[in-house]
Amino acid sequence: MAILEIRKFPDEILRRKATAVGAVTAVEKKLIQDMFETMNFARGVGLAAPQVGVSKRIIVCNPTGEKADELAIINPVITCRKGKRVKDCEGCLSIPAMSGEVTRYSLVGVKGKDPEGKEFSLEAADMLARIVDHEMDHLNGVLFIDRMGFLKRKLLIAKYKKKMGITCLGRRYC
Ligand SMILES: [Zn+2]
Repeated sequence: MAILEIRKFPDEILRRKATAVGAVTAVEKKLIQDMFETMNFARGVGLAAPQVGVSKRIIVCNPTGEKADELAIINPVITCRKGKRVKDCEGCLSIPAMSGEVTRYSLVGVKGKDPEGKEFSLEAADMLARIVDHEMDHLNGVLFIDRMGFLKRKLLIAKYKKKMGITCLGRRYC
């Protein structure tokens, strides 16, 4: 296993739509193991493959940090979003030390393949629903800051630039 480098905003790969995985091979299995290791090392609860520089549709989640709660989904598809609309504080390993309130549904249905290539589906609730939805966004080039209000996003970006010593994040954000 290996700890991979986490790509940070405004890395261009974070804005790309990731491509679907064909057959699940040893390459994907190794990547998933490395993603779990990287996520645990960074004390995250979710990670999407583009965040480690691989533009493939793979996400890993673990709301508790317990081995039994590890969840990896290859080619995830959201089948429904329902329940309550919940506003909660969110962060992202690709936008370190920043957080903001994002509204998401409390129940998210998702289907995809497990690391053995077997199809499965599940209904995620509460924190896991938030994580799955956040990681799915990564596969479509969407970041949690895009789901924040305009002024809060502007403030967060200004703070982020200062913290990271970045003078310009590109035309889209300056
Ligand atoms: Zn993220």
